Amino acid sequence: MECIRAGAQDFLLKSEVTESRLQRVILQSQARFELEQKLQNSYQEAKKLAELDVLTGLANRYAFEEALSLNITQQPRHDEKLALILFDLDNFKYVNDTHGHNIGDQLLKQVANSVRACLRGNEIFARLGGDEFAIILNNLRTLDNATRVTKRILNSIDKTCNVAGIDIKISASIGIAIYPDNSVNGQELLKYADIAMYRAKKLGRNQICYFAEEMQAKFIERYQIEANLLGALKRNEFVLHYQPVYPTDGKQVIGFEALIRWNFQNTLLFPDSFIEIAECSRVIFELGRWVITQAIAQVAYWNAKHNKTLSVSINLSALQLSDSSLIDFIKTVIDTYQFPARLIEFELTETALLEHDNQSIAFMSELNKLGCRIALDDFGSGFSSVAHLQNFPIDTVKLDQSLMFVCHETKTLALIKGLAAMLHSLDLNIVAEGIENTESMLLCQQLNIQRMQGYYFSKPLDVKTIEAKVL
Ligand SMILES: [Mg+2]
Repeated sequence: MECIRAGAQDFLLKSEVTESRLQRVILQSQARFELEQKLQNSYQEAKKLAELDVLTGLANRYAFEEALSLNITQQPRHDEKLALILFDLDNFKYVNDTHGHNIGDQLLKQVANSVRACLRGNEIFARLGGDEFAIILNNLRTLDNATRVTKRILNSIDKTCNVAGIDIKISASIGIAIYPDNSVNGQELLKYADIAMYRAKKLGRNQICYFAEEMQAKFIERYQIEANLLGALKRNEFVLHYQPVYPTDGKQVIGFEALIRWNFQNTLLFPDSFIEIAECSRVIFELGRWVITQAIAQVAYWNAKHNKTLSVSINLSALQLSDSSLIDFIKTVIDTYQFPARLIEFELTETALLEHDNQSIAFMSELNKLGCRIALDDFGSGFSSVAHLQNFPIDTVKLDQSLMFVCHETKTLALIKGLAAMLHSLDLNIVAEGIENTESMLLCQQLNIQRMQGYYFSKPLDVKTIEAKVL
């Protein structure tokens, strides 16, 4: 009795053991084990069926909602976001009505497969019912990631599908809601994504809409920039502005830093609003070359006209370091404009160097061989490391403007003095950025900093103004 109460099912008392009894008990126990195994398998099977959309093999609504609430409660980091993407096919009812449900079903299968190919595989992708699908994107640092994936999905659906010999043109409307920005509740997120999807439909279908207006505004801005960036070079919409650079005595301009601007829909855009997008869409390679040619041609022209030896500083993006023919291109431009290579300084940020490391060192050595100089930009912001000054072939260090802005503070003043002494001892040239008043200019003079730029002297100016006021 004790044994049964404790859960034992097959047992024999020592005094009852005989060969036949033992055999019977073993057989019974084996049979019971097999039965339990079958039960477990059929439970797993039933669970899978209950969570699976039979038509597409995706998760169904039930499994999706479970996963959504689990993902929300287990969101590991506070600074990470989750995107709930909801989409359905535009005019799907028409397909069903015209060609029948069988064709409609096959079309849904094709759509599921196309979208699956856009995903990495660790997302949750479900068919919620009818032609409505949902995806959970997890662990997002920024919304750009969600935008990228969503655009891939939209493009993968926007096509003509061939189903059983019938060509069907399809597109989708996509709504996105973001955790925790829009809501921390799963059901609410679904509702918001639905509202966003409805708005996408109203805007003319084949669209992406974020639930929140400000996210939508950002998305549209980015979308428009990306869509227009490619043609902007051909339409001649980019211009270079030039910020004068002054020597220690602050008297005569000795060179310029070329800074790109984009005349986009009557607004002058600064590089921080489009360079990253140009990098993502790889327009940066062409754009970067345009900047190099333009800047060298311009300063060569000024030097010839005014009989000067002004230098030019050109900013390079990290991605350009991987452009294997860029060195040859630069050489050609130098030859074309007969511009002394020693008057050209390429500015690189520390992040650019770190991303590529060995490739960067090779690239910089090639630039050095041409006779060009290399400056480390924005030093003193972020995680500036002294080791990089020795590991990379650098000629110049540009002190970040944020240092100069607060140079009246005792601690920063000590830091600038220490930095200047160190850079001098490493035989590096120093450029101080962000000189905005006499005080910071006098400090640079006192510390023997070789070059200065900032609003105290001049902001970046267009070609006409430089010609009228600076040269
Ligand atoms: Mg710069």
